[in-house]
Amino acid sequence: MAASSSKPQAMFGGALGSVLAVVMLALPAAPATADENPPVASLCGLGAGNTAVTCLFTATPAGLPFSARTEYPDNFDAPANNPDPLNTAEHELFHAIGFTAAYNLFAARLIATPGAGANGIPAGSRSYSTNGAANGILLVLTPQAQGTHADPAANGAAPWPVTGYNQNNDIMQPSQVVGNRLNASDAAVLNNAFGWAATGIQINVVNVGGTLDAADMQIMNNAVAAVNAFWPAVGKSPVFTWSVAEVPEPATWTFMLVGIASLGASIRRRTQRATPG
Ligand SMILES: [Zn+2]
Repeated sequence: MAASSSKPQAMFGGALGSVLAVVMLALPAAPATADENPPVASLCGLGAGNTAVTCLFTATPAGLPFSARTEYPDNFDAPANNPDPLNTAEHELFHAIGFTAAYNLFAARLIATPGAGANGIPAGSRSYSTNGAANGILLVLTPQAQGTHADPAANGAAPWPVTGYNQNNDIMQPSQVVGNRLNASDAAVLNNAFGWAATGIQINVVNVGGTLDAADMQIMNNAVAAVNAFWPAVGKSPVFTWSVAEVPEPATWTFMLVGIASLGASIRRRTQRATPG
């Protein structure tokens, strides 16, 4: 899939743009499984039950990650909602910088998983392979419809080569194992896909609208630090912008939309009453 830029902010201007942006965000996203990550140019928007969603991927002309946005629900770091918010942050950051078919370098090395449809591996499962063959597989992904996640059933057993790669401990394992952290095996995939072992990456975090509080931002910065442990950060290229935002959950948006509609109707009624006639 071609890596294309998405610049929704440039599509509209001024107050109208703000209103449209709010409405676009408020439109319910297509039903998603887990923390689904739609492909390039996707609109953000949390699906029911999501812990977070990463969206609005953009890439450089060379196909390197340039920016992405992660949206978190309100109180995503509340223990009752999420026992391991750092895991979520690292997981979403990995989506943001690598695990999407948006980037040609990564997508070009996806192959059909040998043995998919059997052994508990879903039909349509894809694998990231360094050489296009089974013996180059570094990561087995779930089918496209389930997002760009590691397949928890593909744990290195046959028919895959025994790589020592335990996908149950992969940061992209969608079950979000408590205590799971970015590890060397995860890093190896991005090193291979993007050559970051040589080039590194500098991640700038942008707190969209100041919606994340200081404690939230500490989690984001800790996630970035985890990435920096594998790739030297300062002065590297590309500079990757990770926009993070805390947004109301869908039910809240619906409630707000109803409120806005009611307000509009109320204003219209008042306007009509005020008109002599
Ligand atoms: Zn995910």
